[in-house]
Amino acid sequence: MAISQLMDQQKSYYLTGATRGLDFRLGQLKKLKQAIVERESEIIQALRTDLNKGEKEAYAFEIGIVYQEIAHVIKHLKRWMKPKKVKSPMTHSGSRSFIIPEPLGAALIIAPWNYPFMLAFDPLVGAIAAGNTVVLKPSELAPAVSAVMTSIVRTTFESQYIAVVEGGVEESRALLEQPFDKIFFTGSVAVGKIVMEAAAKHLTRVTLELGGKSPCIVHHDASLKLAAQRIAFGKFSNAGQTCVAPDYLLVHQRVKEKLMSYLQEAIISLYGEKPLQCPDYGKIISRRHYERLCHFLNDGKVAFGGGADDKTLQIEPTLLEDISWELPVMQEEIFGPILPVLTYENLDEVVGLIQARPKPLALYVFSEDKKVQDTMLKRISFGGGCVNDTLMHFGSTHLPVGGVGESGMGSYHGEMSFHIFSHMKSILKQTTRFDIPFRYPSSKIGFKIIRKLTKP
Ligand code: NAD
Repeated sequence: MAISQLMDQQKSYYLTGATRGLDFRLGQLKKLKQAIVERESEIIQALRTDLNKGEKEAYAFEIGIVYQEIAHVIKHLKRWMKPKKVKSPMTHSGSRSFIIPEPLGAALIIAPWNYPFMLAFDPLVGAIAAGNTVVLKPSELAPAVSAVMTSIVRTTFESQYIAVVEGGVEESRALLEQPFDKIFFTGSVAVGKIVMEAAAKHLTRVTLELGGKSPCIVHHDASLKLAAQRIAFGKFSNAGQTCVAPDYLLVHQRVKEKLMSYLQEAIISLYGEKPLQCPDYGKIISRRHYERLCHFLNDGKVAFGGGADDKTLQIEPTLLEDISWELPVMQEEIFGPILPVLTYENLDEVVGLIQARPKPLALYVFSEDKKVQDTMLKRISFGGGCVNDTLMHFGSTHLPVGGVGESGMGSYHGEMSFHIFSHMKSILKQTTRFDIPFRYPSSKIGFKIIRKLTKP
């Protein structure tokens, strides 16, 4: 079916009002959950094919997060959908005020390849919850997952309500020409700009979940062994292809050597002495990305790892040292299992270095000192992050995730997902039992009263 025809069908279906009721939304969410339950092993297999994700990682980082999101929405949706009463000011006597959430209409979700299931279905849950129709465009770089998701959607929903359009740049561009009411995009900063430009033509609302270089700071008082374990987990899960993975380390120079040795121990404990032989260690998504990453192995000095296999497209968890900001590895988001380690002497230096660059999507600080933690949290602007951990903020339905500045606009998860796919319609309902005349030009004392009620 032509994309414009699909769009027309969805718009007409939306206008019937079918997607709006609470029972309908809850019913669709339950159907979606059931379809995922039935196809769980296929999803896990597809994640293995595209990214060599192990079963545990596939469940914990992708399927489990979507289940949690669906359960949370089902539990709270009734409350979120209710009109919210707010106060009316004295100048508006006789009235009641409330805010009614209404669906935006036809939504487009464009997903990336790195968590190809979760980053497509998580926003889908929000769009359904808010009462929209949806066109979902998975990433062409994860074809096995794209095929399973297409099959799930086609066997669960009618295309006038939820449809998948598979494909790459061409299909994505064709979709972006359509007058959607909402575009939810997850991907790179460069494509995020293309999406926003296309959305501007129709004044379509956008949420942009983008990337960037997320710093991880380890202060001298940190619990170093634990920090190393949690950093290795955050950096090398999915072979570093995680938008909120620590991109580079800033370590207090006094503890650098100790941390490096703990990091090596942690990598071995997670993936063994030979990570490329570990059955569940991730692969790089494509040859192009693999080659881009291999170039970074020439930057600075390899302190640990550095091996690669161009048949399986795998790169060992690698620590780089002797790194300067001018090197290619520090010029772009790494998005792979290579961790450059830089040192600092004082926190002002750290703040200055990060502030001089685009606002990161995530930031992690390891320190036992609340003052140090607060300095990082208050002085640096970033999307979200953790104190003494990595990644874990992403998996909470209670924490909205999203970037700021170049790392994106708008946050989602839990109630925030409902909000970004809704319009909050403000209504003032006035009584007809009386009419206080002071607002009218004919009222003699009206101006006096207005001045009194709105005095500075
Ligand atoms: P990408 O921007 O290349 O692609 C994302 C989507 O856009 C895909 O569906 C792709 O088909 C489509 N696309 C690609 N080029 C396009 C074009 N010219 N016009 C229109 N559509 C186009 O991103 P990716 O490589 O799939 O993902 C990696 C990036 O995504 C990284 O920068 C990462 O940090 C970011 N990311 C962010 C989050 C987040 O939650 N903030 C999550 C995952 C990934």
